[in-house]
Amino acid sequence: MKTLPVLLLLWVAVCSAYPLGGATKDEDTSMDLVQQYLEKYYNLTKDVRQFVRRKDSGPVVKKIEEMQKFLGLEVTGRLDSNTLEVMAKPRCGVPDVGQFDTFPGVPKWRKTHLTYRIVKYTLDLPREAIDSAIEKALKVWEEVTPLTFSRVNEGEADIMISFAVKEHGDFFPFDGPGKVLAHAYPPGPGFYGDAHFDDDEQWTEDKVGVNMFLVAAHELGHSLGLSHSTNTEALMFPVYNPNTDLARFRLSQDDVTGIQSLYGAPTASPEEHLVPTEPNPPEPGTPATCNPALSFDAVSTLRGEMLFFKDRYFWRKSLQKPEPELQLISSFWPSLPSGMDAACEVISKDTVFIFKGNQFWAIRGNAVQAGYPRDIHTLGFPPTVRKIDAAISDKEKKKTYFFVEDKYWRFDERRQTMEPGFPRQIAEDFPGVGSKVDAILEAFGFFYFFDGSSQLEFDPNAKAVTRVLKSNSWFNC
Ligand code: ZN
Ligand code: CA
Repeated sequence: MKTLPVLLLLWVAVCSAYPLGGATKDEDTSMDLVQQYLEKYYNLTKDVRQFVRRKDSGPVVKKIEEMQKFLGLEVTGRLDSNTLEVMAKPRCGVPDVGQFDTFPGVPKWRKTHLTYRIVKYTLDLPREAIDSAIEKALKVWEEVTPLTFSRVNEGEADIMISFAVKEHGDFFPFDGPGKVLAHAYPPGPGFYGDAHFDDDEQWTEDKVGVNMFLVAAHELGHSLGLSHSTNTEALMFPVYNPNTDLARFRLSQDDVTGIQSLYGAPTASPEEHLVPTEPNPPEPGTPATCNPALSFDAVSTLRGEMLFFKDRYFWRKSLQKPEPELQLISSFWPSLPSGMDAACEVISKDTVFIFKGNQFWAIRGNAVQAGYPRDIHTLGFPPTVRKIDAAISDKEKKKTYFFVEDKYWRFDERRQTMEPGFPRQIAEDFPGVGSKVDAILEAFGFFYFFDGSSQLEFDPNAKAVTRVLKSNSWFNC
């Protein structure tokens, strides 16, 4: 199966060596690039090569039109400046039309739990930055499918991830800085599912060079079976978009529809998701979901869902289902207290911490972890702190913020210590947010501060309140 591409590549190399009459050298180079682009990404057959010299050739014009249509350009059939500009942009090495190789049937994994292994790192970033970018990139797909991933450090994983330059053992050598950034193979055995990143790029955590998370999320989409999308808003659009808002990164509906057509929406299973130990429908006298006066004790996320706690109950809201579900806390976690003070998910640890009074608990899925509750003072709070009002973990910076009356503390999740210089005044660093915080939620890059029945949307980058909402605005009332 792999001998064919190598022969074709050799053939191209031999042909390019022939002298070409008529055209200038610059024109030749630019036509070579167009030829290569169409061959590589649009399945242009090699025997139309001669026609490229005549720009009016039918098959080539057709291919140019096909490419323009795919890339959201004006379909002119000509290599106008807009088209050439887009063709010069960095992109994914996977073809837009046709696959690297054909694998029988629809390429998708026949299992929902997949392993991955980072085989070779780049020197551009610390290892932990790569680890966390890959983790985050997998999370993007995990949140909208029943798929789960775990990392292995040796042996063969479903998805083998590596950085490489130029020729690297498959038949698609990288091309030095720029142009092709990475490529990945659709699901299957052996090299299928694997993702390769061009180490001649400058990989970064921000946007100075090429953003590791963004490219990884795209490539892992291929590893799961997605091909390129023509939707310019989609993560699976083939051309790298340096203007993506990383702080508010979300999959487009196009990406979600694509991946769910292969694997479906997230499903609840005892191991991976929340399942009540006794599926009790809430009894009469339970809080009314759409009561405009509704307030919450604590709010947290849990594996892509949102949890809103109130007395003995909580609402469970997923992005996939519009209607929230009201449940008894005890039917999921019998040993947790009711009327909690604060809750927050630390995504890197796949753990939700629950606070009440001077105690806190750690839960994973529907298991309360052994060794809890612990005393909040073990986190570094002074004895004067008797309870925590609200907590939120910043998954990017790996810090947890604790709000206590009109002050807040910040905890370093990597070092497991309270940071020096705290507490600070809430009013100073979160202008517009009052001194009473019931709960906090982070979503779409915003912090949502709950105070009684109202909720403030706070933009941490602009350091300003952007909207005032009802606390139950998440409930589709
Ligand atoms: Zn791609
Ligand atoms: Ca490159």
